[in-house]
Amino acid sequence: MLELFRFHGGVKPASHKQESAAAPIATAPLPELLVVPFRQSATGSAAILVQAGDRVLKGQPIGGAEGPFGATVHAPTSGTVRALEPRMLPHPSGLTAPCAVIEPDGEERWIERVPLDPHTADPEALRARIRDAGIVGLGGAAFPSHVKAKASIDTLIVNGAECEPWITCDDRLMRERAAEVVAGARILGRLMGAKRILFGVEDNKPEAAQALRNTLGEGDSRSCQVVAVPTLYPAGGEKQLIRVLTGIEIPYGKLGPDFGVQCFNVGTAYAVARAVLGGEPLISRIVTLAGNYATPGNHEVLIGTPMAALLPLGGPKPDTDRVVMGGPMMGFPVPDLTVPVVKATNCLLAMSPALFPPPPPEMPCIRCGACTRACPMVLQPHELYWYARSKNFGKAQEYHLFDCIECGCCAFVCPSRIPLVDYYRFAKSEIRAREREKLAADRARERHEFRQFREEREKAEKAAKLAAKAAETKAKLAQEEAAKAAAGENLGAGATVPAAAPPPADDKAALIAAAQARAAARKAAVAPQNTENLTPDQQAQIAAAAARRAQGRETKDSV
Ligand code: SF4
Ligand code: SF4
Repeated sequence: MLELFRFHGGVKPASHKQESAAAPIATAPLPELLVVPFRQSATGSAAILVQAGDRVLKGQPIGGAEGPFGATVHAPTSGTVRALEPRMLPHPSGLTAPCAVIEPDGEERWIERVPLDPHTADPEALRARIRDAGIVGLGGAAFPSHVKAKASIDTLIVNGAECEPWITCDDRLMRERAAEVVAGARILGRLMGAKRILFGVEDNKPEAAQALRNTLGEGDSRSCQVVAVPTLYPAGGEKQLIRVLTGIEIPYGKLGPDFGVQCFNVGTAYAVARAVLGGEPLISRIVTLAGNYATPGNHEVLIGTPMAALLPLGGPKPDTDRVVMGGPMMGFPVPDLTVPVVKATNCLLAMSPALFPPPPPEMPCIRCGACTRACPMVLQPHELYWYARSKNFGKAQEYHLFDCIECGCCAFVCPSRIPLVDYYRFAKSEIRAREREKLAADRARERHEFRQFREEREKAEKAAKLAAKAAETKAKLAQEEAAKAAAGENLGAGATVPAAAPPPADDKAALIAAAQARAAARKAAVAPQNTENLTPDQQAQIAAAAARRAQGRETKDSV
């Protein structure tokens, strides 16, 4: 028998479970149009993969998971994408976001569904399957499950507490589809190396607990256990259920895996089993119609079904004046009934003045401390209230505003009927808006600084290039000068090339003698010859030459 622990605070509102838990889950009919938001996880939007006019199959990805925290979005049925446009989302602020408007063809033609064997599949392949199936936490947080499944843990807690009044979708799921819930829990447990799996079910759901026990059988009693936890709101809060089942108190700023524990909703475990064993992405969920309906109950609803198309299945009574998504403690009013059912839609609570009388006027805080005693997160709600009200958001954060799970226990017990959670939500949204603005300003400043840096860098690069070119030119000129100088030296060197060696003294004398001989010969040729020793022929030749010379002179003179 597992020892149970108690968490701090908590309240016991009337449960109102029996109204909607009696009937089996019904399947909601195909609406005329489906409006599928691309933002369906707590961590952001998916990338749009289709265009208006595209024909799509049931289960076909139409939004791709972006980044490590992304989750895929799928066409919930076969048909035609009629438009991609911003539509209002089920959110307290009534914000809009890109959606695919799909007109069903009524044929429900599936994509090819490929099962994975969880016993042989690689853990990464299993996590990828969970991501590609678009599975997020179905307890309301809508955090991507493949990210949570990365933890390495000792204890996996499957959350079937469903503590919020009026809501019974998990109860009916456990009763009717226990085998898939258990199969999904086993896949998750194996993936994270869990030594034991604890199914926490509030003790006001004995049929659900029994269905799980029947599925587990005797052989599983050591590693898998179904534990009935006392009905006390909010026992289904993650930290509260961990405390009840393990005794571990998770402090501020820490999470279950820091202590070897991870928590998944029963709906999430069911979706994991469908994705792994059946190859089916998350395209539908169970939604409770409770409150002011003629026939409250649970319906399996395609994601993207407009709430206005779903509500008639429960037959809202004529005095219904508003619809809340979620329960009376943590839910918020639906801004417009055209908004679609999303993965976080667990209940549409119809309200009337008779069933949910308007709260009495807010009175001043009397510092009675009831809120502090009721707070399951061990916060000081009245301090948070003062700081949120005076817009002293820094102080509110010092008092752990973001640890507030908005469970509403403080407001439930407040004798002054102060809508405390509204103040906390206001403060959180203001802080987030300021952080977004700061982030945008920081990014703009970073862009500006980067631009300046780039311009300066380009300037410096340009200057460096010019300097390099100038240096190159200078070097070239210097080289040319050097080459010229070298050439000049060479020329000079030519002049100093050793002249021909002076002829030796004997040669010199010979040369002089030869020159003298030539001069004497010329003189002899010009001067009157001593003809005495000459032969008659020589004398005749000399005389002829003298005559020719004389004739030449005469001719010159006559001219
Ligand atoms: S319960 Fe209400 S009145 Fe009492 S301290 Fe808290 S906020 Fe103030
Ligand atoms: S709403 Fe926040 S402050 Fe109030 S009881 Fe719950 S956790 Fe505490």
